[in-house]
Amino acid sequence: MALEVLQRVFGYDSFRGDQREIIDHVSGGGDALVLMPTGGGKSLCYQIPALVREGTGVVISPLIALMQDQVDALRTLGVRAGFLNSTLDFGERRAVEAAFLAGDLDLLYLAPEALGTAAVQRLLDRGTISLFAIDEAHCVSQWGHDFRPDYLALSMLHERWPKVPRIALTATATTATHTEIATRLQLGDARHFVASFDRPNIQYRIVPKNEPRRQLLTLLRTEHAGDAGIIYCLSRASVEKIAEFLVESGIPALPYHAGLDARTRATNQSRFLREDGLVMVATIAFGMGIDKPDVRFVAHLDLPKSVEGYYQETGRAGRDGLPSTAWLAYGLQDVVQQRKLIDSSEGDLAHRRNLAAHLDAMLALCETVECRRVQLLAYFGEESKPCGNCDTCLTPPESWDGTIAAQKLLSTVLRLQRERNQKFGAGQSIDILLGRKTDKVTQHGHDALTVFGIGTELGESEWRGVVRQLLAQGLLAVQGEYGVLVLTEGSTSVLSRQREVRLRREQARPTTPAKSRSA
Ligand code: ADP
Ligand code: ZN
Repeated sequence: MALEVLQRVFGYDSFRGDQREIIDHVSGGGDALVLMPTGGGKSLCYQIPALVREGTGVVISPLIALMQDQVDALRTLGVRAGFLNSTLDFGERRAVEAAFLAGDLDLLYLAPEALGTAAVQRLLDRGTISLFAIDEAHCVSQWGHDFRPDYLALSMLHERWPKVPRIALTATATTATHTEIATRLQLGDARHFVASFDRPNIQYRIVPKNEPRRQLLTLLRTEHAGDAGIIYCLSRASVEKIAEFLVESGIPALPYHAGLDARTRATNQSRFLREDGLVMVATIAFGMGIDKPDVRFVAHLDLPKSVEGYYQETGRAGRDGLPSTAWLAYGLQDVVQQRKLIDSSEGDLAHRRNLAAHLDAMLALCETVECRRVQLLAYFGEESKPCGNCDTCLTPPESWDGTIAAQKLLSTVLRLQRERNQKFGAGQSIDILLGRKTDKVTQHGHDALTVFGIGTELGESEWRGVVRQLLAQGLLAVQGEYGVLVLTEGSTSVLSRQREVRLRREQARPTTPAKSRSA
């Protein structure tokens, strides 16, 4: 039955991965929690059971802007689908409601906030529901970056319609999120389906950010000329600037961020989906639910807040299975900025600690000397072997004994703190180490410190690399609005010579790995 629907309605030959088992389980009335990477084929897992079972499958999705597209796509396949959200006028709404009540809908897409209203609940009571599909289920996680308060109310589905099977789906997969989804949605009896999160066709690369625009342009021109891709920036302002810069450089690019009006956002999104070779420069407001198979690269010009976010964003590349690039440029300033955001964020200490832990994991990924994929998958609880398709596998980083450099840097921070009772950002410590008599150095008399000028064996960018790596290893921390450096417990063990520090060498590394795809 399910196979017949797959072939006749969707035109595919066979199921992928766990699809078959999930579909059988849900069609049989069981609850399911599905964790599958982006592009894994989650939609069929509820669409086919909805077609097989009697009644209408109700799909809860936060992606209001995409509902029309999703429904149109289903209709062209002959599936009877409709949606209810705030974009409909009264007449359209009535028509969808009538179709649902008449049993003329296979699938009904709903915004989560709609489900909270008494009118919609009464409507659902009067029709026949075959199943509830909760898409992007990680939106229920309060720790996550996509949290939607309306998702919390979805626990009532089980109370109000106890006999209707529920399937929750997400591409976010840490064990913590996983458990949280199950608890918050009352999916205690659900069967869990956890697919491998590996995306072997994506090449992961993380480079130090020196001249981001030039680095980006090199990437686009040498490896991705004419390709469609997404470039993520942290702020709306940098989205606009980078999009402009690309257009001036002859690369067709569009901006996308929450500050643009809805019309512009919709136009840019649909152009990106429909036209070939467009580059979308966006904040993370862009991308959830975007199904464009031939996104050839995802570039990050700023450090993502978490490994989950990074993985989800990069996962939008290469859904068609063809070689694609995930490229991230990050620098010390990123770390300082993210710390600043955390320290000034609302929420209690536990919340800020949680954000800090996410940032630390992201930093560890950036500074690892091991295979990026091994580290990424390990983060999601999966064991794997070095992949041969990431920068550290292709160009293994050299490491060097950075113990003395680390001691010099840490004692500078220590002396400022102990002898002067002062805290400064990385720039000041580096100026001191390099023996630079800047205004700020002489003004504070820092040229009189014994550490003044003791670090001339390294250059400025190397010192910044040392700071970044010490931060990533927890041997140093950055704090507060001004991003001042402070010592950690780990610092003490380095200063007291109980601990060696290995650092990765950055200078000699080419910006693009030896094995280029176009070759
Ligand atoms: P997800 O929601 O997990 O990101 P989708 O459900 O959008 O993934 O599926 C990703 C792509 O794979 C879609 O283009 C879909 O049509 C295709 N697909 C899904 N299942 C199959 C299958 N069994 N055979 C062939 N293509 C499939
Ligand atoms: Zn690798």
